[in-house]
Amino acid sequence: MSRIASILLPMPLPEAFDYAEPEGMELTVGDQVAAPLGPRLLRGVVVGLREAAGGNRPLKPIDRRLDEPRLPANTLEFVQWAARYAVDNPGQVLAIALRGARVPKPKPVRMVRPTGVQPVRSTPARARVQEAAQQQPAPAAELARAAGVSAGVVKGLIDEGVLEVFEIAPEARFDAPDLSRSGSELNASQAAAAGLLNEMVDDGGFNVALLDGVTGSGKTEVYLETAAHALAKDPKAQVLILLPEIALTQAVIGRVAERFGVQPGEWHSEVAPPARRRVWEAVAAGRCSIVVGARSALFLPFANLKLIVVDEEHDGSFKQEEGFIYQGRDLAVVRGKIEQAAVVLASATPSLETLRNAETGRYRWLRLSSRHGVAQLPEIELVDLRTTPPASGCWLSPLLVQAIAETLARGEQTLLFLNRRGYAPLVLCRACGERMTAPDTDSWLVEHRYSGRLVCHLTGFSMPKPERCPHCGAQDSLVSIGPGVERVEEEARMLFPEARISVFSSDTMFDAREARRLVEAMTAGEIDILVATQAAAKGHNFPMLTLVGVVDADLGLRGGDLRAAERTFQLLAQATGRAGRRDRPGKALLQTYAPEHAVMQALKAQDRDAFVAAEMEERELAKLPPFGRLAAVIASGPDLGQLEAFMREMAQAAPNAQGVEVYGPADAPLALVRGRRRKRFLVRADRGVDLSAYMTTWRARVKPPTAIRVSIDIDPYSFL
Ligand code: ADP
Repeated sequence: MSRIASILLPMPLPEAFDYAEPEGMELTVGDQVAAPLGPRLLRGVVVGLREAAGGNRPLKPIDRRLDEPRLPANTLEFVQWAARYAVDNPGQVLAIALRGARVPKPKPVRMVRPTGVQPVRSTPARARVQEAAQQQPAPAAELARAAGVSAGVVKGLIDEGVLEVFEIAPEARFDAPDLSRSGSELNASQAAAAGLLNEMVDDGGFNVALLDGVTGSGKTEVYLETAAHALAKDPKAQVLILLPEIALTQAVIGRVAERFGVQPGEWHSEVAPPARRRVWEAVAAGRCSIVVGARSALFLPFANLKLIVVDEEHDGSFKQEEGFIYQGRDLAVVRGKIEQAAVVLASATPSLETLRNAETGRYRWLRLSSRHGVAQLPEIELVDLRTTPPASGCWLSPLLVQAIAETLARGEQTLLFLNRRGYAPLVLCRACGERMTAPDTDSWLVEHRYSGRLVCHLTGFSMPKPERCPHCGAQDSLVSIGPGVERVEEEARMLFPEARISVFSSDTMFDAREARRLVEAMTAGEIDILVATQAAAKGHNFPMLTLVGVVDADLGLRGGDLRAAERTFQLLAQATGRAGRRDRPGKALLQTYAPEHAVMQALKAQDRDAFVAAEMEERELAKLPPFGRLAAVIASGPDLGQLEAFMREMAQAAPNAQGVEVYGPADAPLALVRGRRRKRFLVRADRGVDLSAYMTTWRARVKPPTAIRVSIDIDPYSFL
């Protein structure tokens, strides 16, 4: 009896396709195969196999099985679950899961070893080569170097048949973690938390814990201890540590290397394809036991995943907003469930969703309420910009300037935090008032002085800053409005010409190595003032940093979406939490026009619980997350009339369901992006509603014209 194989292709197709399994191929679910689609042969993965019932129309046969690692069943289940949840095509998710596999296989390495034949003529140089080759086969050049001879000597021995060349597959070496090394000795509350997490690992099944500890309380120490425990218990166990920023992955990679004496697998968008391939293969083969990465590491084909850590779990960067839209923290919990693994969510300012799960007992809740050792939390002061404004054209108030001067005098470091890249967020013409906007997008162009360009942060469009206003033609009339990090740096340089000042933002750091270098320079005390966006405000430990100045504490509140207050609180608590490590007390100054705002008051009083309680109450009243569910539908198209007609059709097709309200259609706040008009619906549902199922039904009822793109965002974070 022949079999039918369902093959999922890594592309946006709604379902897997059926193919005939050729006689003798003996496929298994998870195998990678080459399957014909139209005139092409494509890589796909077997997701199902069944006996063919007679009489069906003949199916195209699979071309061949690829000599590639098999995807574990759990990984496939996760891919399909994630697609259903996000109301997207499973092939789209599979494409992410195969990202490391779709890189050409690296070429085999040519090695040299002895054959046993003795050379006709022996010289000391030849003898040294023979000895080196005897000890360990190696590439010819390496042998020559080890023996201190020229390449010609080795070649001569090969030509004579004394040595022979053979090929091996270049496998990445991921050495086993050294579990005999011990970490820092944990203090009492750290030890208690680690003990509970270790118990969770020992229980063996799926469990989630919130590791809730103030900045600097040693959460990283605790979860590394639990990682060590998991690896000691099961030498084949794998541990995944997820971080929201590439800069943070670098810091944690360093700590893993120190703790376990090995480099972990590194996974994020900047890892070069060959390295990506090596990590992917090693993870699938179970040869790589610790992976440190960004959210997409969740889709790696783990052979035996036992522990997932989501560090800084509250961070909005875990939400992927383009292509396949997902919330990495939530999917980490799902992956943990499928793998029957322990999941640790760590944060000093947990998300309301996670806190709610901890409050209701779905997650274990472990608290570390003080900093390790003598380190104290910083003192926080609000600087009321209405009464102590900066000098005209400046952004640092006299109080902050004085505090920086004092910090410099003590030989300590300052972090000036402003979550805005570039030089100025807006450029306008003094003559006609024209604001410089992107040509095809509803957004202001941001001035970047380093590159001398005006940049659209949304689409990446950029142009040189013009000398004349493009609207009225006035010469030299364009003025920069408001500050970005580059402008604050300029002001700091003017005020403190002797100080060593650096900018840390995604525009000034071109890659992960550059980020690591800056973090190291800061740690080593080679920088006096670091002007930084959120890229540096999170998670890092700078022992000499004692002053944090928040240039514009109100910035995040202006957007006004569901999470504006929560996000501002988290970001500023993180940023101010950088101040005062080890034995040096720290201070944070928050510049604000709204010192009476609940967020500022909570930050000043360092009273997270009161802030969370008030915020929870508001969300509960409005039945918003975590007390309800949200989804967004964004449709876009080049023609407004056509888009409006489609939105009306879509509104009519919305299924009626209890506990679900549909708002819209309305203009999306960004109503024009890359020349496409955008409209949206917002959907709110009670917690008990399967919102993914609702959205799937709705989506299936409409067929958008080809020019219109519809994307569904379950649990939206960005309301643009
Ligand atoms: P968190 O992750 O909560 O911000 P970390 O784990 O980074 O905290 O710890 C903050 C700092 O304190 C780090 O420099 C860390 O090495 C140090 N530290 C934490 N716990 C201990 C400990 N038990 N012994 C020695 N140093 C510790």
